[in-house]
Amino acid sequence: MTPQRWTVGEFTITSILEEQVEHVPPELFFPSVTAADVARHAWLVPDFADERGYIALRVQAFAIEGRGRRMLVDPCVGNGKTLAIPYWNDREWPFLERFAAAGFTPEGIDTVVHTHLHADHVGWDTRRVDGSWEPTFPRARHLYTERELEWCKRGGNPGVQGVYAESIAPIVEAGLADLVDEDADLGDGLRLEPTRGHTPGHVSLWLESAGESALITGDFLHHPAQCAEPTWAEVGDADADEARATRRRMLSRAAGRRALFLGTHFPTRPAGRIEVHGEAWRFVPVG
Ligand SMILES: [Zn+2]
Ligand SMILES: [Zn+2]
Repeated sequence: MTPQRWTVGEFTITSILEEQVEHVPPELFFPSVTAADVARHAWLVPDFADERGYIALRVQAFAIEGRGRRMLVDPCVGNGKTLAIPYWNDREWPFLERFAAAGFTPEGIDTVVHTHLHADHVGWDTRRVDGSWEPTFPRARHLYTERELEWCKRGGNPGVQGVYAESIAPIVEAGLADLVDEDADLGDGLRLEPTRGHTPGHVSLWLESAGESALITGDFLHHPAQCAEPTWAEVGDADADEARATRRRMLSRAAGRRALFLGTHFPTRPAGRIEVHGEAWRFVPVG
């Protein structure tokens, strides 16, 4: 499988896939939404939904290379984790094999960015070696915002139990954790922006290079259908109203800037442009 790659100025961004699931009833992720609601948006077929309105979703990380930097954003669920969501508990995926096939080494990653600390965004930070959890990327600074880290430590929602112990504490103990501001400038054109609602300390990552820009969303939205229906709340949104406001603000800004928009859970063709369509937007994939 050839990895999907996009160019933004001096940088390349690569999708490292953990898993894509298809033909999923939308109400599993969007409790107020039926398949008929999705099927009204014919532009979602075939990349993002099937003709019946069942949706596809992905768990993937984005690797960013350029100007001597090698960063990884939101490293997925991980193998062998103890998680409250049965589908993610104690799984095995060939993620590190795909990461290597895309030309990366664990030692080569200099920074790991987390949009938030849900289980499916921190998992590969650690791997089990002889029964204990060890950092996977031993030379990387792992970035956390204070609000998100405190929320995660308190067991912020039922899905995060075990996440701190297995995927974050070993990073802190190894001295590889850095607390950063929610609007931190990471250098070389990379910058965080607070995008709260899905979680209290959620951030997204902007990349600007040579007159081009890109936005890695994290979970301020989960599926391209939410471009057309920004009020649709995802089951994990901690503050659904704040998440709705964040979606509108960020979709509007991404459309205005013509940014390459990379949806962290978008399936099949996860990068594209946001175009204004009536009162809302559409996602137009590229590549
Ligand atoms: Zn999430
Ligand atoms: Zn997620």
